[in-house]
Amino acid sequence: MTQPTPPSMTRMNPHHHEHATPCSTRSAGALFAGHALLPSGWARNVLLRWDESGRLHAVQAGAEPPQGVAHAPGPLLPAMPNLHSHAFQRAFAGLTEFRGQDQDSFWSWRDLMYRFAARITPESLEAIATWLYVEMLEAGYGSVCEFHYVHHDRSGRAYADDAELSLALLRAARRTGLAMTLLPVLYQSSGFGPRPPRSDQARFIRSTASMLSLLERLAPACQAQQAVLGLAPHSLRAVPADSLAEAVQGLTALAPGAPIHIHIAEQTQEVEDCLAFYGQRPVQWLLDHLPVDRRWCLVHATHMDAREYAGAAHSGAVAGICPTTEANLGDGIFDMRQWLAHGGAWGLGSDSHACVNAAEELLMLEYSQRLFLRQRNVLATTAQPQVGTALWLAAVQGGAQAAGRSCAGLAPGQQADFLSLDTEHPALNGLPVQALVSAHVFASQRTSAVHSLWVDGVLRVQAGRHALHDVAARDFVAARAKIAEFS
Ligand SMILES: [Zn+2]
Repeated sequence: MTQPTPPSMTRMNPHHHEHATPCSTRSAGALFAGHALLPSGWARNVLLRWDESGRLHAVQAGAEPPQGVAHAPGPLLPAMPNLHSHAFQRAFAGLTEFRGQDQDSFWSWRDLMYRFAARITPESLEAIATWLYVEMLEAGYGSVCEFHYVHHDRSGRAYADDAELSLALLRAARRTGLAMTLLPVLYQSSGFGPRPPRSDQARFIRSTASMLSLLERLAPACQAQQAVLGLAPHSLRAVPADSLAEAVQGLTALAPGAPIHIHIAEQTQEVEDCLAFYGQRPVQWLLDHLPVDRRWCLVHATHMDAREYAGAAHSGAVAGICPTTEANLGDGIFDMRQWLAHGGAWGLGSDSHACVNAAEELLMLEYSQRLFLRQRNVLATTAQPQVGTALWLAAVQGGAQAAGRSCAGLAPGQQADFLSLDTEHPALNGLPVQALVSAHVFASQRTSAVHSLWVDGVLRVQAGRHALHDVAARDFVAARAKIAEFS
């Protein structure tokens, strides 16, 4: 989805006293905002201060505007962490929306996606990811968890540098300023059994030992740009039980708190296959056989029974929900009410990137629950009756946990990842501050009402645009044309 920039975004806010100046490296800084959404709700006259590592050390409400401190162009929200991305899939979004057989499904979509993945090169991956990350920043995301599974060259052989494609993603993140959690994917079999991989999965496959050495190879590169490194066993159908246990043990020895993400119960077929092989549903099997805790993110835990909802929520793991992708692929509906009844944490992923917009993911999530329950404002809470605000704050907190990064909101100790809403956007202009997030989520008409966005205290989006917007879009289009071979 390309996001046309409304004319209002190209003007600076007239109430903006001193412009925050763009700067591509971190330094200590401060910003004053008339309104800011803190973890407890909206506050007035908020002064933020952060240190040279981009970490907030003071968030003071009711402050006097100090001399020499820039004023935010509008109300501030925490930036949204994106907990699930396969960057290369951005380049074929929109290319699978046609009927290929009597009943298209996740599995027929996956065949098309594999044909596309087969043609990715390090150069095209970097170009696609660079544009995708520009889009994410412009749409309110401050960080991404990259669930990265294309490791090898087109014949399935390791590149001379085994980390070649991972490094392309890290470069795209560094260049755009998006914070990254890199999750190299362990993929070994084409189904429960274990069944040998298909030839079109050859680029994904590696042994557990080679995964652990890849992690060791990537650790210094991640550290150099403050990226978080974790692991993503692809799914129970792609990783046999002994490999899964060994990989989790190996990661824990390398980095005890590192995040672990897994696709878990996206498709009913997958649940049936798991029942047939293990005699248990996938989430239940995982809970019974692995040390599932707060490090874990269960991506697409769509098909769970009541016992699994309770067990998974109580484990402390984050539910990784990707509302527009799950709708696009016809996965099913995650039961938020059951998850929240057990106090479960959750966050958002844009996954296949048919949509790259944090606000629109929240809209889809709330609407799916409304359609299912025939009720309104399902995900509002007693503490936060504005459904947009309740959703935003919860997804920021769960997303930060899944990312293994301190980006859980505007509070001391968290990174200075935040955005300023565009109060000149027609959907927001003149509304009371309490209504702004809901207006952004439910009424901004598929255009982003994000005016500016900071990551680690560094201004990355100004007046709705990232500095690399034009050049990254051009390189993305060229890379996609080469891969898709239109005509
Ligand atoms: Zn995924």
